[in-house]
Amino acid sequence: MTLGLVGMLAITPFAIWRWVRQEYVLALLDTGLLAVIATAMIWGWRGGPIRYIAYFATLPVSAFAAVISLVSPESGYYWVFIAILTNAMLLPRVGVATMLSLAVVGVALLLGGTNTAFHMTTVAVTLVMTVLFSWVFASRAESQRRQLESLAMSDPLTGLDNRRAFEQAIAQALHEAKDGQQIFGLALLDLDGFKEINDTHGHEAGDAVLRQLSRLISDYLRASDRLFRIGGEEFVLLLPGADINGMRARMENLRGRIESNLQCRGEPVTASIGASGWQPGDTATSWLMRADAAMYRAKHKGRNRVIVHELSAAA
Ligand code: GH3
Ligand code: MG
Ligand code: MG
Repeated sequence: MTLGLVGMLAITPFAIWRWVRQEYVLALLDTGLLAVIATAMIWGWRGGPIRYIAYFATLPVSAFAAVISLVSPESGYYWVFIAILTNAMLLPRVGVATMLSLAVVGVALLLGGTNTAFHMTTVAVTLVMTVLFSWVFASRAESQRRQLESLAMSDPLTGLDNRRAFEQAIAQALHEAKDGQQIFGLALLDLDGFKEINDTHGHEAGDAVLRQLSRLISDYLRASDRLFRIGGEEFVLLLPGADINGMRARMENLRGRIESNLQCRGEPVTASIGASGWQPGDTATSWLMRADAAMYRAKHKGRNRVIVHELSAAA
């Protein structure tokens, strides 16, 4: 939006000037560009898909910059700098932006006349430098964005995916389940008496148990299963392809492994697991609530057990 606004403010006086001086080719080019920018801004403001809007806006700006040197040899090259920056800032893929910018530079140099070889060389060198600098800048911004994204999605203590990642994954699972592409099991695991472990052995020892548990579960998972730490000592497993019986068997097996392998200062640590299959009409909340209710039944029945929510007769 900001880029569009600045572009409109900068180009409008040029367009008016060209119409007043009856330089119709340039007047039409400027006016066409203004129309493209205005359309892109309205499209964006109405919530259109950013990726398409980016191409819709940058391709005409690049074409404009590439041919303007032909019509206006004395000043046309300046617009190529703007096109290069627009590509670097708007296009979602750095490689595409760089290639497009190099193509614009090439066409502009071919089409645009200039007085001296020295001037031509200066134009070529500064344009290519701008493309390279923009490429470096955009690549860094992209890798920092990826780093931020992965930080936002992972839990620092265990390195597992966190609640935010889980929310995305369950939305995707609901989508696939509703389309009938895949069945899913969802299991919620909560450590038993973890507060006491913390109180007796200290928070550090508690943290070590959480890390040990995350490794233990990760080692047990299949490639397509996903594990998330969604709260302090609460973990969720999303199990594609698992029906109720399969899920019960696997969670019972996992519970047994935890009981025999997870320890804190030599004392065994156990977990309670509640599980539920997807049901038609489910939302993330309703699905998770069934698994949560099953997990609480496991706690009430004495902990260190697995309870799978049975499908209701209506489902
Ligand atoms: P229950 O068997 O009913 O689940 O009992 P509990 O003590 O495990 O349950 P509760 O939810 O009361 O306690 C959870 C404890 O988990 C409380 C909190 O101190 C601890 N906890 C939460 N996050 C962390 C963490 O990151 N590290 C450590 N060491 N402890 C945590
Ligand atoms: Mg808990
Ligand atoms: Mg607990």
